[in-house]
Amino acid sequence: MAILIDGKSISTQIKDEVKEQVSELSKKGITVSLAVIQVGNDPASSVYVRNKKKACEYCGIKSLSYELPEETTEEELLKLIRDLNENKDCNGILVQLPLPKHINEDRILDEISPLKDVDGFHPVNVGCLSIGKPGFVSCTPAGVIELIKRSGYTIEGKECVVIGRSNIVGKPMALLLLRENGTVTVTHSRTQNLKEVAKRADILVVAIGKPKMIDASYVKEGAVVIDVGIHRDSENKLCGDVDFESVEKIAGAITPVPGGVGPMTIAMLMKNCAHSVELQG
Ligand code: NAD
Repeated sequence: MAILIDGKSISTQIKDEVKEQVSELSKKGITVSLAVIQVGNDPASSVYVRNKKKACEYCGIKSLSYELPEETTEEELLKLIRDLNENKDCNGILVQLPLPKHINEDRILDEISPLKDVDGFHPVNVGCLSIGKPGFVSCTPAGVIELIKRSGYTIEGKECVVIGRSNIVGKPMALLLLRENGTVTVTHSRTQNLKEVAKRADILVVAIGKPKMIDASYVKEGAVVIDVGIHRDSENKLCGDVDFESVEKIAGAITPVPGGVGPMTIAMLMKNCAHSVELQG
């Protein structure tokens, strides 16, 4: 039976470290703050925003809340972002996605100052990651690296296979594993012989958005399996992209859903907020 990688306790460890860091900064008169912008009231987004604000409170980070109506125009949102870019009392800017259809998400995300882009989505930060310069790293893949390392597994020299190549998970995940000296293969919907490729992995990271698609037939015995997916199954229970019951019998270690990667994303957002003070000098 696989060892369970406990994202809940590791994320609490990280938030406690951030809390300590934020308290040290406050002794020097520095307040860490995060602007959280939500446009419209998509219920799932409201839950995410509430959890982010709760985490800020836990860590001692001041959250500046902007709850804008659905009809907000792209120009109005761009103006708010420009104002926040200039605002010395705001360290991080987070725009909760998805945005309403009449707003171009790329245009909005590109407007955020790379020095305040705590989600790590700005092209400048993506570029910095790819050439190994300091910057913000996308929270979910950064959280996966912390999960693996803090659970005592080595990445260096290991065969790492990432399933999925999205801009927010798969691609930065591959770059981060490479930065940790893994031997990295990225697979996607057009990959041939996916099972064979996945079975090479000592570390398998799954981010495909397909409930329970990856079963034991994709996994090498003893592999570390990280499940990024989040879905509700037919009984409305949370599940991932990995078929947990099947894979836990063969993997060496596995993340559960819920309680694996999910809580790490918010913890890494908090870490990025504290890091923003350093980046902004
Ligand atoms: P996405 O839809 O943007 O990308 C999916 C990727 O999977 C694509 O690159 C596609 O090529 C690949 N893919 C799709 N079908 C495939 C198949 N049959 N075989 C191989 N590859 C296939 O999704 P995303 O934004 O990367 O998210 C992936 C999953 O992770 C989703 O379930 C999402 O909800 C979840 N997610 C979780 C968190 C978190 O905090 N835990 C954060 C972001 C995303």
